Amino acid sequence: MSARKVLILPGDGIGPEVMREVRRVMAWMDRSLSIGFEVEEDLVGGAAIDAHGTSLAPATLERARAADCVLLGAVGGPKWDKVAFNIRPEAGLLALRKELGLFANLRPALCFEALVDASSLKPEIVRGLDILIVRELTGGVYFGEPRGIETLPDGSRRGVNTQVYTTGEIRRVARVAFELARLRSSRVTSCEKANVMESGILWREEVTHVHDTEFPDVKLDHMYADNCAMQLVKNPRQFDVIVTDNLFGDVLSDEAAMLTGSLGMLPSASLGAKDAAGRIPALYEPVHGSAPDIAGKELANPIATLLSFGMALRYSFGLGEEADRLAHAIERVLATGIRTADIMQPGMAKVSTAVMGESIIRELEASLA
Ligand code: NAD
Repeated sequence: MSARKVLILPGDGIGPEVMREVRRVMAWMDRSLSIGFEVEEDLVGGAAIDAHGTSLAPATLERARAADCVLLGAVGGPKWDKVAFNIRPEAGLLALRKELGLFANLRPALCFEALVDASSLKPEIVRGLDILIVRELTGGVYFGEPRGIETLPDGSRRGVNTQVYTTGEIRRVARVAFELARLRSSRVTSCEKANVMESGILWREEVTHVHDTEFPDVKLDHMYADNCAMQLVKNPRQFDVIVTDNLFGDVLSDEAAMLTGSLGMLPSASLGAKDAAGRIPALYEPVHGSAPDIAGKELANPIATLLSFGMALRYSFGLGEEADRLAHAIERVLATGIRTADIMQPGMAKVSTAVMGESIIRELEASLA
């Protein structure tokens, strides 16, 4: 079997701690399941500024392009708060997303049975929740022109942003959503505001076109984004895949994430367009940041990063069975009452980052018995 090339960028703060646990799980999979990962590691963010004076060195970008996918920890921290805006740690991450053409952001909201009481919603609403939000990441109102703040003749000011989408931008993210739905329950809900926005009408028409011509086997529904926000707290389990634009996706994905509790549990992925060789550029990272307040203290929860690696197994390597195996191992560890500090509950055992990782590997071992 050909090697699966992964570039690991641990980054700053708790990034290296949580990524260490991913490397241990990868090593276990190599050893016990003969997966065959070929891993390279490099610097990004503040760590890269310290070493190279830039948050993303050109050689790192080249390595990212050559890999099947990139796994990233987190970037940033107070040490680099005063560096120039264009070389700040976050600029490296933004450049990586831009250079790899990552236009689709995937945010799952998955409720583990053992953490069902940690949600702000009632257990019966979130139990068994498993939804995926696909957000368009590189277009829409955050990038549209004209934009700016202008002073009017009467001295008052006007702020302008432009919501703009083209056929191509909508179709490519719709395809990602439909393809992912086929790997799940084959249902897509597309969200916009076609009742009040022309860009929403176009969004609805183009998503419908992609569906009818390429994915008629997938069930497609349309929903206004405001209704979707309401339905996410009323009955979130009605959804499988939600596809939406940059602005609505920003809001809806944060809302959906909080259905499941802690930041330390939330994975994400960003995907680009398939190239001629059939390869899809991909970056997998936890939703959380570098958590400077707990960095180096072995307090970080590695599960968000491990679940991001699970997404890489499923979406970059077609190893859905191994992704399920990892998710089940995490579920079983949580069920036995093992918790990092961020998800600690009364009567449970509080453990370090490393012990959480070890416990998950023990459950992976047990899954082979
Ligand atoms: P943060 O996500 O780093 O931390 C918010 C809170 O959640 C903190 O109290 C932290 O201790 C806790 N937390 C986060 N991840 C955790 C984990 N895995 N386990 C346990 N607790 C966890 O957000 P912030 O404090 O606003 O930002 C800190 C730095 O991270 C800043 O420099 C910011 O720019 C950067 N940041 C980076 C990314 C990224 O790399 N994608 C995302 C967000 C923030």
